[in-house]
This record gives sequence, structure tokens and C-alpha cells, in this order.
Amino acid sequence: MIERRSITTVTAESVLQSDVERLTGIEFACTCGRTHRVEIERLILEQGALRKVPDTIRQMGLGTKALLIADPASFAAAGDELAGQLGSSGFDVSLCVFPEDQLYADETALVRALIELEKDTEFMIAVGSGTINDIARFVSCKAGIPYLVVATAPSMDGYASTGSPILVNGYKKTYSLQSPLAIIGDLDVIRCAPPAMIAAGVGDMAAKITALCDWLLAAVVEEEHYCEVTAELMTRALTNVASEVTAIRTGGVPGIKKLMEGLVLSGIAMQMIGNSRPASGAEHHISHYWEMLHFAAGHRPELHGIKVGAATPLIARLYAELLEADMGEWNMTEKDAVQIAEWETNLRRCYGPLAEEMITENRSLLLSQPELDVRMNRLVRGWPELKPKLRTLLGLVPDLKALLRDAGAPAGPREIGVARQELSDALRVAKEVRSRYTVLQLADQLGLLERFAEERTRESFAP
Ligand SMILES: [Zn+2]
Ligand SMILES: [Zn+2]
Repeated sequence: MIERRSITTVTAESVLQSDVERLTGIEFACTCGRTHRVEIERLILEQGALRKVPDTIRQMGLGTKALLIADPASFAAAGDELAGQLGSSGFDVSLCVFPEDQLYADETALVRALIELEKDTEFMIAVGSGTINDIARFVSCKAGIPYLVVATAPSMDGYASTGSPILVNGYKKTYSLQSPLAIIGDLDVIRCAPPAMIAAGVGDMAAKITALCDWLLAAVVEEEHYCEVTAELMTRALTNVASEVTAIRTGGVPGIKKLMEGLVLSGIAMQMIGNSRPASGAEHHISHYWEMLHFAAGHRPELHGIKVGAATPLIARLYAELLEADMGEWNMTEKDAVQIAEWETNLRRCYGPLAEEMITENRSLLLSQPELDVRMNRLVRGWPELKPKLRTLLGLVPDLKALLRDAGAPAGPREIGVARQELSDALRVAKEVRSRYTVLQLADQLGLLERFAEERTRESFAP
């Protein structure tokens, strides 16, 4: 991270009362016992924001020599105009406009951006959304220069993130890199994004419900660090979006602003915690599993937020079932040798060449009976307090499918072209996508996952 001196120390109470624009360049000692920091220095979300970019760069003292990267759509939407403005304001801007409509953040794209980078380039500007931002974050960080992002679509919450998922040898690997120093969203540009990208943004926000449930659950069962302030910010972002879905779908400025604020706030929450725990849980793992399959099969992947949204009602349903269940019947039993062998066979079938790495990474999560007893005790002790919190979260959007449909987003796996086997496998093995504790792990430990996977698959594919 480039050392800058514009971080202001604030209080946790003021963070909860601030608008998202005021949550930039701050550091605070939190009630959770940690110090949280937000590296983004400027956030501008307004109509006509594009015209403010040259002055903003000057005020931030980033220099005059820049590399601007974009794809054909984002260049047409904002990049071309911005390059002209910067040129006439005395900036020396090189361009890297990728020719593909369907761009991947892979080795080829990284090298192409790198080729355009000159020795004295002082900063990068990403004009676009997910992939363009990922590429700029990677290249600028490796080159040791800052970058800023000019957002063109409200499609995902990664603008403020510090990591980029990159396709390396055909497989996605997330690199921990740097935050953009500024996020600029011209609402006149963003509201004209394709409807699917707007629906995807709502899908990625809807996912926060189950992501936050998973975080609460992990805090109890795995005693993972939990931050009330961050969770509160996420909840606020989510309710702001959920209450404005109709306005968002019609592309009106106030609705689009709410959606962008929610997505950026979600990224800020991840920056505060230092990983994606507040924003990503089992629903993201299911989406990553489908994405991997579709990529391996050479299919054009759905937008991240569309897949994540379609997986969220499934996970919310699992929580609803656990909340209705009789806890007295729960127990956690160690897997025996036959079950472990079956587990490995299943992972090899589902993950192919990635399976060995998954098995090694997840073996530590296969707990012994004494370790499971500890978890079960924590669950039994924590459940009375956890239950109402989970209910409150799930109650924020009582009908998730209706919310997604209102936003114009698919509300289930079948609607995004997921095959029966792909759903049934995802529910069983998506928990191995990464070693993060979610409700899918809990259901597995309680011996409830098989039946859940079977029932949801049957129901989703009922004629
Ligand atoms: Zn996401
Ligand atoms: Zn905290």
C-alpha cells in the first residue's frame, strides 16, 4: 500500500452516524477491540461527477501522468469523455482499451495493461466495473502506484475491495492488493448501465442477509472475530437498497444512488475487517462453484451478483429450517473412514484438477469427536441469543425471491441455467470452495446437509 498521510482518527459512534461519503480516509478504535481503517480518500457519487475527476486528482496530488484502462462499453460510457477532459486539463493520459466485450482478468489482460504502463506513469484510472477494477488494482499495486476507479455500473460490491480475483492457468485465485484511493460514480453514467448489471447489484446486496447470518454463526461456533459496528453498517446498506428496489429498477437517480452507496459501503465494511467475511458467505461459495463449472465448460458466465442473488434464497431457506428445528435432536458426530473416503471421491468428481488442493485445505475442517463436542457446546450455549438475531436479519427481507424478481433478477438456480446435478453438487460441496465457516458446514456437522440438498434440488426442479 502506498503510504499517504490523509487518514483522520474518528470514533466508532461517529462512524455509525456518518453518510457513506464521510467514511473515507478514516481510522477508529472500535468497540470490537480492533482498529479499523478505510484507505479510500475520496468518494463522489453524484450526477455530473465525471467533470470533477481532473480537479479531484489534482487535489489529491496524484501527479499528471496516468494510464486509463477500460473495455469497449465503459470507454463509450465514460472513458472517452474522461480522457478528453483530462487531456485538456493538462494531464498526460495513455489509454488501454481492451477490445473484448467479455473480458477476463487473466494473464493476457494483465500483460496488455502492463505493456501500456510507462516507467514514469504516476497513477492508473480504471473506468468500468468488476473486471476492469480487478485488472487496475493488480497492475497498479504491482507497479507500486495508486489507482482510482470511475464506476460505470452498480453491478457488484468490489469497488472498495482490496483484493482481485485473477484467472491464473484457468483457475481463479484472489490476490490481496490495494484499495483504490478514490471511487467516482457519475450517476448519469451509472443509471444507463444495462438492466442486468443493475439487477446484479441488487443480487449482491441481497446476499448480505445470509452473509451476515453466517458471520454471526461463525462467531458462536468457531469463536470467530465479530464486529457489531461493521455488521450494523452492512445492515443499513442492505435495508436502504431493499426499500428502494422499484426505484432502482426504473433507473431513477435516487434509487441508483442508494444502490451504489450500498455496494460501496459493503466494500468499505470489507476494508474495515480486512477480508470479505461481512459481505460473503455460503451463497457466494455456491455461486463460485457454479462459476467454476461454467468457466471450465467454456460457457459465458452470468454476472457475479446474478448468481449470488439466485443462491441466496436457498441459504435463507436453510436458516429458516434450522430456526424451526428442534435443537434437542441435534448432535455432531465425527465422520468415519468410509464417510471421509466418500467425501474425497465426491470432491474429486466435482472439482477435477482442483480437488487435491481442496482436500488438503479442508481436511483440517473435518473435526474429531472432542473438537465437535466443543462446537456443539458453544452452539447449545449460544443458540438462545443467536436465534433472535438470525430471525431479525432474515426478517429484513421476508420474501427474498420477490425482492430479486422486483429488481429484475433471477430468483433461483434454474432461472440462471444451473442443471439439476450442478445444484445438488453445489449444496453438498460448495462449502469446500474456501475454508470459511458457514451454515453449510453447520448443516453438514449436524448431519442435515444431505437431506437438505436432496429436498431443495427436487423442489427447484419440480415440473
Ligand atoms: Zn459479491
Ligand atoms: Zn469493529
